[in-house]
Parts: sequence; structure tokens; C-alpha cells
Amino acid sequence: MVTMTSSGTAQAQSPTHQAGTQELDPGNLTELRRDAERSSQALADATKALEQRQATLTKADKELKVKLEQLRTATVELSKVRRPLADLVQSLYQEPSGGDMAPFLSGQDDASSLRALSDMTYLVSGRDKVLADAGRLYQEQQKLAADAQELRATKLLVEAQLSAEIDTLRKRSATVVKSLSQALTKLGVRVNQGGRTGAACDPTRVSAAAQYPNGLLPKTVLCPLQQRGRELRADAAISFVALNEAYRKQFGRPMCVTDSYRSLGAQQSIFYRRPGFAAVPGRSNHGLGLAVDLCGGVDVFRSVQFNWLEANGKKFGWIHPDWAYHSPFEPWHWEYDPKLGSLL
Ligand SMILES: [Zn+2]
Repeated sequence: MVTMTSSGTAQAQSPTHQAGTQELDPGNLTELRRDAERSSQALADATKALEQRQATLTKADKELKVKLEQLRTATVELSKVRRPLADLVQSLYQEPSGGDMAPFLSGQDDASSLRALSDMTYLVSGRDKVLADAGRLYQEQQKLAADAQELRATKLLVEAQLSAEIDTLRKRSATVVKSLSQALTKLGVRVNQGGRTGAACDPTRVSAAAQYPNGLLPKTVLCPLQQRGRELRADAAISFVALNEAYRKQFGRPMCVTDSYRSLGAQQSIFYRRPGFAAVPGRSNHGLGLAVDLCGGVDVFRSVQFNWLEANGKKFGWIHPDWAYHSPFEPWHWEYDPKLGSLL
């Protein structure tokens, strides 16, 4: 596992650490988050591979079934003509009808006996062909039945192998998320705040966040911050905790947060109380769990804290968006850029 350390100067300038907070390298959190995302991706890939394999095998199985059915029908049709044809040939051999064959056999060359001979040759060859076809069809049917059986056996085997692989990946993914949640808990994040079930900060669920409208994110994609009552989308939250630790090393105290994820209700309430101050409800990055409003110095443009965050936030995926420099001027507003974060 790679561990990153922040610069020596940053450490030298950090006089105190808050009591009860264990030191954990912020880089560790990034590593854990990446690990969780990779595990989740591997799990998704394996699941997709299994589904594709199943679909391919099911299609091949269906095609075989259709072929087998066609063969069975052909065999039935053949056996229908086989019997009467064989009987007819048999009867012609036994009693050459009305003595037609006698003149021919005795050497007399006469038209009706030639015709009788030709009829019989035709019937015999017809019978032979029917018998040969029936044999061929039977063999083909046997081969297809064997193929179908083999295909089903292969399908079961592949399914079992891939399911085992998926099971392993799922367990691994759960273990990483658990480690991540434990690391966050050590840093004072109350992961199971608000009766969260299966308490975890799970950055692998954030892709599900896109299904939900702004301001209506479910608890499963959100994760609390060290700052009480504040929460963000899991990936943003984990990065923010790492950023907060770096800030703490620099300034000796955690960041001050006045606002983070904002539910739609909260957005509306702020908008109507202070129109112009907050974004139109349903459009704010706060509603996506990707923005914070900060205090404690960062909110003052060009303060030491602001400049430090401007210089160091990017390393954690946090930026001060262009618009916030002027229109409207909001030095306190900072955003997490998932694209930047995914490159860490
Ligand atoms: Zn804001």
C-alpha cells in the first residue's frame, strides 16, 4: 500500500493535534477509496462477464433445441414413408404382379416387362435412399443431443466459476469499504450517524447518486463529515476528511463548515429566506453533496487559509469554482470535482 506524506514544512507548522484524534495519513484515505472503487469496478466487470456468458450459452442452447426439434420432425416424416415403401418393394419381389416379370425373366423383350423392371428399380432405390436418410438423420440427432448436453454442462461450470469469482470480489469490496469506514471512524467521522443501516461510507455507491434528483440523495450515498451534522456524497466526504486532516496539520485545527449537502427542502428554505444568496433550488451542487461553504478564515478572500486551500485543495479533488471568484462572489464556496478526484 502506498502512503503519502504531506510536506515537511506543513508538519513542522502543525503545533497540535486534537486530542482523541489518531493521526492517519490523508493519502491513506485516498488509497482506500481508490481500492474500494477498483474492487467495485472488478465486481461490476465480473458480473457483466457472467451475464454475457450466460446469454451466449442460453442462445446456443436454444438454437440446438430448435435444430433437434427439426430433426425429430424429419425423422418422424421419414419413418412414415419408410414402412409402406419397404412393404411395396417386398411385395414386388415376392409376386411380380400379374406375371409381368415372367416374360422378361424368360428372355422375352417386351415393353410391359421393361416398364415393370424400371418401376421396381425405382422403388428399390427409393427405399435405399429413405433408409440412408433415416440413418444420417439419426446420427445427426444423436450428435446434436450430445452437443446440447455438453453445452449445458459447460454452462453450469462457467456459471459456478464466475459466481465463485463474483463472491470473492464482493467480499473483497465489502472488506475494503469496512476498512475505509474504520479509518474514517478513527478520524472522528460518525459513520453510523442517523440510524444508517449497514453503516459504511461506501464510495462505490456514488454512481447510484445520478439516479436521484438534486437534493434528494438517499442516505446510502451520503457520508458524514468530522464536522457534526454535515454530510456529503461518499467520495466527496472521504476526500474532504483527507483535506481536513491536511488543513489540521497546517493550521492546528479542523476546517470550519457552515454548509454541506443540502436537501431540496433546505435549498428551498434558504432560497426563499435569502433570494439571490443561494442557487435556484434543484440546481445547487450542495444538492448533489459535492459542495461545502467554509468559515474560519477561508471565507475571507485571499486570507492565509483561502490561499492555502486554493493551492492544496486540488490534491484532494477540491476546487474553488471559477464563478465563485466573481459572479456571485462566494469565497466560502468550495466544490469537489469527481473527475479530479478520480485521478488521485
Ligand atoms: Zn455554497
